[in-house]
Amino acid sequence: MASEQPAGGANALPIQQLRALLERIDGRGYGAYKEIAGSYAFEHGLLAIDHVQGDPFAAPSKVRLRVPMEQAALPPDLWHGRTRRIALEDWLARQVQAAIRRVAQGRRGSGKSGLIGIDAGGQTVLERTAVRITAAWVEARLDVGLPAQGRTVLGRQAAALLCEELPLIARQSLLWRSLDAAAGRAFVICVENQEHLRAQLDALGLVAFVGDGAILPRASGVSDRPLPRAQAVPFRAPDALRVTLELPQPMPGQREPRISGMGIPRGVTLIVGGGYHGKSTLLRALERAVYAHIPGDGRELVVSSARAVKVRAEDGRRIARVDLSPFIGTLPFGQPTDDFSTENASGSTSQAATIIEALEAGAQVLLIDEDTSATNFMVRDARMQALVRKEHEPITPLIDRVRELYVSFGVSTILVMGGSGDYFDVADTVIMLRDYQPVEVTAQARAIATAYPTQRRREVAAPWTRITPRAPQPESFDASRGRREVKIDARARDLLLYGDEPIDLRAVEQVVDRSQTRAIGYALHAASTRFMDGQTPLSAVLDSLEAWLDRQGLDALDPFRRDERHPGNFARPRRHEIAAAINRLRTVRMRLLR
Ligand code: ADP
Ligand code: MG
Repeated sequence: MASEQPAGGANALPIQQLRALLERIDGRGYGAYKEIAGSYAFEHGLLAIDHVQGDPFAAPSKVRLRVPMEQAALPPDLWHGRTRRIALEDWLARQVQAAIRRVAQGRRGSGKSGLIGIDAGGQTVLERTAVRITAAWVEARLDVGLPAQGRTVLGRQAAALLCEELPLIARQSLLWRSLDAAAGRAFVICVENQEHLRAQLDALGLVAFVGDGAILPRASGVSDRPLPRAQAVPFRAPDALRVTLELPQPMPGQREPRISGMGIPRGVTLIVGGGYHGKSTLLRALERAVYAHIPGDGRELVVSSARAVKVRAEDGRRIARVDLSPFIGTLPFGQPTDDFSTENASGSTSQAATIIEALEAGAQVLLIDEDTSATNFMVRDARMQALVRKEHEPITPLIDRVRELYVSFGVSTILVMGGSGDYFDVADTVIMLRDYQPVEVTAQARAIATAYPTQRRREVAAPWTRITPRAPQPESFDASRGRREVKIDARARDLLLYGDEPIDLRAVEQVVDRSQTRAIGYALHAASTRFMDGQTPLSAVLDSLEAWLDRQGLDALDPFRRDERHPGNFARPRRHEIAAAINRLRTVRMRLLR
């Protein structure tokens, strides 16, 4: 039955030769596996074995399954255009994962023996390297554990895995005729609709949108899945903020190509309400809504500006030459703050630095939750102003800068604030959550602000006119470890090892996927070797990096890139999280560009 079809790999061998080779090395030492690197043709495509692991406990081997487009027959309208291609690639990775679950026999032997994996996404849809679609072919990039007992090759098991299971997985998940076409189409449309909504926000004067019926709460504090519908109160927009937006196509399961919900306008927005009424849950959904979500997530009806950045306090973080003077005046013993560095920031200085760094990287919206803010950074009330005189308080609280942020820099803020009504004076929009439902209360908040004037004074020494840019110094980035020129590991979503340096991303909450963390590490390496010269401001470095990734694709992050190679498991991070990692790399040196 086998008509061998080399899919772009001109020197591929028939897969029967791989089987013969594996049977020959059965029972030999693990090193014999090195011989199987290469390309093999099977009925529907090509198996490329790019990297062979050193032992059964080492990082798994890297293989690709490539199917020519004539065979895969993916409908062109579902992958033409960047948004649709990324969505279909993401969906196919999930189909490969499902096929692996059906087909793979699982562990056989020691360590990772027999395991097959693909880096498919969770609740979020991201550009990732797991599946790639080109006009000529579709390719899945997998990790496999080559079977061994101790260090002895299990050749027959390897033959079953590589010569039977993998081709079957390719057949079940990379040929359009094997797939649930309606589900694939619905997924792509759902993602495209979200990107369409995001693209409309600006023209509508909005910074975020929460659709009626959205499910915001998650199943638990450690799960990104939705709370079951029976327990969740679906979102319903307050009339005063309700907008109806047009979609290119109806959302899956809907008839009309439009969606109604709450538009959050530009400016300063307060989210108020009693404790436990859902304030942080709404803010969290807005944080995550910089990315598209899968159908059924509940947040596929929520979008926020692609330039929305969560800001929180993070005491202990490092700060490298940030001009903090808009928020922090002269410190005890006359330390100046217009060129401020520390290895160990306080809550308030860390939050001030994170805001200024976010603006430097191009944030348009700041998302702030009182739960994770430094109290003294948020507000200083009238009584405290009376007791501790301004000349003894270096901090200019956010309440005194938040309007300037909008008026002078065009940067909006969405702030969860249950604790201080002083903010009523500076808000454009006030949304109250009551029993998880939003109510628009701007006029009431204004009336209260007039009836009970706060006695506090605005405490700004000077108007805030500019962000002082910084140029990162490329020689302060060193990705090497031991004899390895580049050694970068994502230990966890929130912990990156860059060479020998750990980068703590616990407070960088909009990194949602460990493969983004890995990509951030390699992006730092690419940025420092390609786009930094010691003079170029960080924002321009990020512009160049993003343009390069848009042009070359994420595969380009592989520092040893060749065209025919598994590039590693990457998911696309935003510029804001790349900047956040640079700002948290403890070796980084900056030059202030005054
Ligand atoms: P707040 O910040 O106002 O104190 P949270 O957002 O932390 O409140 O929410 C409190 C609890 O209520 C959380 O366990 C959250 O999952 C749950 N919750 C939030 N929104 C909803 C909702 N729409 N339906 C059901 N439960 C919700
Ligand atoms: Mg809260």
